[in-house]
Amino acid sequence: MGMSDYDIVIAGGGHNALACGAMLSLHGLKVLVAERNAWVGGGAVTAEIARPGFKHDLFGASHVWCHVNPDFRNILRPELEKNYGLKYLWAEDEITGHPFPEGPGIVIYKSVDKTCDSIAQYSARDARRYREIFDDFDQIKDGFIKTFFSPPNPPSYHPAAMENNPRGLRMLRNYNLSSRAFVEENFENKWVRSAILGWSMGPHVKPDQEAMGASFYIMIPAMHIFGQSIPQGGSMELPKALRRLIEDKGGKVMTGATVKEFIVADRECKGICLEDGTEIEARRAVVTALDPKQTFLRLMNPKHLDSQFMQACENIIFDDMGICRVHFALNEAPDFKHGGDFNKVAYHRIFGSVQDIVNHVAEVDQRKLPTDPFIHALIWTKNDPTRAPAGKHTLTIDTYPPTELGNGVKWDDVKEEFGRRQLEVLRRHTTNMGDDNILDYAIHTPEDLYAHNRSFYKGAPTGGKRIIAQLGAFRPLPEYSQYKSPIKKLYMAGPSCHPGGGISAMGTITARVMLKDFGLVSDDDEDFL
Ligand SMILES: Cc1cc2nc3c(=O)[nH]c(=O)nc-3n(C[C@H](O)[C@H](O)[C@H](O)COP(=O)(O)OP(=O)(O)OC[C@H]3O[C@@H](n4cnc5c(N)ncnc54)[C@H](O)[C@@H]3O)c2cc1C
Repeated sequence: MGMSDYDIVIAGGGHNALACGAMLSLHGLKVLVAERNAWVGGGAVTAEIARPGFKHDLFGASHVWCHVNPDFRNILRPELEKNYGLKYLWAEDEITGHPFPEGPGIVIYKSVDKTCDSIAQYSARDARRYREIFDDFDQIKDGFIKTFFSPPNPPSYHPAAMENNPRGLRMLRNYNLSSRAFVEENFENKWVRSAILGWSMGPHVKPDQEAMGASFYIMIPAMHIFGQSIPQGGSMELPKALRRLIEDKGGKVMTGATVKEFIVADRECKGICLEDGTEIEARRAVVTALDPKQTFLRLMNPKHLDSQFMQACENIIFDDMGICRVHFALNEAPDFKHGGDFNKVAYHRIFGSVQDIVNHVAEVDQRKLPTDPFIHALIWTKNDPTRAPAGKHTLTIDTYPPTELGNGVKWDDVKEEFGRRQLEVLRRHTTNMGDDNILDYAIHTPEDLYAHNRSFYKGAPTGGKRIIAQLGAFRPLPEYSQYKSPIKKLYMAGPSCHPGGGISAMGTITARVMLKDFGLVSDDDEDFL
């Protein structure tokens, strides 16, 4: 084998790989990262795709989950902000706007009080219920966050802890509802229901998927406790800052370096081999931040794996609901008919009614393009004017179409019309989104997302469908949920592992597992909350 200058070799240069590498670097380990693209970032990439001077986040944009992650919040973020050029810009109070065809619309604020006031304009009872749910959550949030950012417990661990008292049993029952059932049971007003259901679908789960009632609880800490942020200059500033940290600590981040094979001998991973034939040895361990199908089925000699494990990798289910985005360069920011705080918000969720959401998903299930899609509209230049020339704005609209279209329909034939259909939804709620406001645009279909990043399997963003059979102790595979693979010295990171997709910097969890294995941190260091 070739160079052996590195303690740790990491395959993939997404933000999770880099977060893992950065944590290890801070503990004195020498890290090498090999990334296929000519840039780092994976799902956190910023590019001038619609028109020069207008910076759009092509994939992950809203940085919420990394701030919930204790190791990112307490260790990496301060280091990156102090020494490596990262600057987070925070939504001051207004987090999302939910425009509706009736009434004043709902704004979700960081402030619970202001959010309740906004909801109360539709229903005082729903506002009270919202607060009760928040208060309930507030009592268990530390445990919840720790569960989210630690290696998963056995499947029976949480139910067993909750089933011993009536309150716990009730909560367990609520978690097992679908998000639609949860919303219909807890809220009475049709527009409030829709706003909450829209939030619950944030983790890319469908409204009637069982046991997703908890997903609203997942969203609460993110917005009201930690708030919402974007890096100044674009999402990609996070991976770029992580890269600087790793290199500053003596590590190396290679781009244009596609991993062709994980080198295994005696059931132990020794290093990686790149497409150009370069072999890189790891003194202590290798991390794969690529999905298990790629790692084990394509990049490893099958003789090192048993057939049952390979079949389990084969069986990983990806979403059938992807993302289609239109990135616009605008003359001026969209002007919302609701006015007021709506025009301060950078992130709008336009969902229609619960029935509209259900209709959308029903069409996705039939592999049809939604007739009247719900959309997200992101105007990050409201919070970060550096992303466009002075006075101009960026806008990204997206929705969830099927990953594969039925009846032989080709994306190239329909994408323009479907992009326009999304724009029409925004036009209903704004006064100035005529063609004269649009300087340029670029459309990204699920096929484009997949071509950019093989982790976005057929355009789905989750790294494996979020169904009970693929969450917690089952993610990415039963027996291998602790970030260790069946091959010795090969650790795993990325959205296929718990807690799943998102800009969560979950690579810190893998790093912590490794540091414990190396004896560089102990269980006593776990008081990181
Ligand atoms: C359209 C879209 C919008 C999203 N919006 C949000 C959002 O607003 N907020 C949020 O929290 N999350 C969002 N997400 C999800 C989020 O972007 C991802 O979950 C996250 O980026 C995953 O990060 P990662 O570092 O684990 O993996 P990835 O970013 O997928 O990184 C994997 C890396 O490995 C590289 N690679 C692949 N194969 C090889 C190989 N053989 N050799 C070397 N390198 C290889 C890839 O090029 C890539 O850089 C969104 C996703 C999509 C698709």
